[in-house]
Amino acid sequence: MQPSPDMVCCPVCDALHCFPADPDPGERARCVRCRTVLANGKDQAILHIVVLAATALVLMTIVVFYPFLELRNGVFDSRASVFETVMSFSEGVMAPLSIAVAAFVIVLPIARLSLLIWALGPLSVDREPWPGAARALRWAEILKPWAMAEIFMVGVAVALVKLADLATLSMGPAFWSFAAIVIITALKDTQMSKHSVWTALDTAKTR
Ligand SMILES: [Zn+2]
Repeated sequence: MQPSPDMVCCPVCDALHCFPADPDPGERARCVRCRTVLANGKDQAILHIVVLAATALVLMTIVVFYPFLELRNGVFDSRASVFETVMSFSEGVMAPLSIAVAAFVIVLPIARLSLLIWALGPLSVDREPWPGAARALRWAEILKPWAMAEIFMVGVAVALVKLADLATLSMGPAFWSFAAIVIITALKDTQMSKHSVWTALDTAKTR
């Protein structure tokens, strides 16, 4: 079989599919073998991705500056935002840790969301893409495995279980926003099939 630009390889089971056209808006193309979503109807998918990315970006500002956890045990009362937590290691030998946590939990997720909005924002309202849209989209894909908000959440959950006996814990607004971001990001990634976003970007460019 000759390779053609309309061929799509299933990211899960490697089955090859020929895509003569995008699915209609509201429809999904699934892998015939394992049912992984290969492409979403363009209009629907891109708008969803942009709206979800923008929502996550707004919630991210709450995460960074509002209290994340509050600890009380009668003697002390302490509350911390993610920003303060990251900064608390910023001196001495722990400084690299601080930089790494800041990068993976705050900087990379924000960069990735902004790149997605830059690349797909104009497409979602049927405008010409902004300059550098393709490069922005490629970088958003490269950064995907490195934006680890979910992993931080798991770490926090483990810490909560361990601390529950020692002090009264309450979760601040940042905690709930972070939980929402994890869910929104997962939703966004299910909408985001490489084939449909790149096709949409290509068609918009050559229009
Ligand atoms: Zn498959």
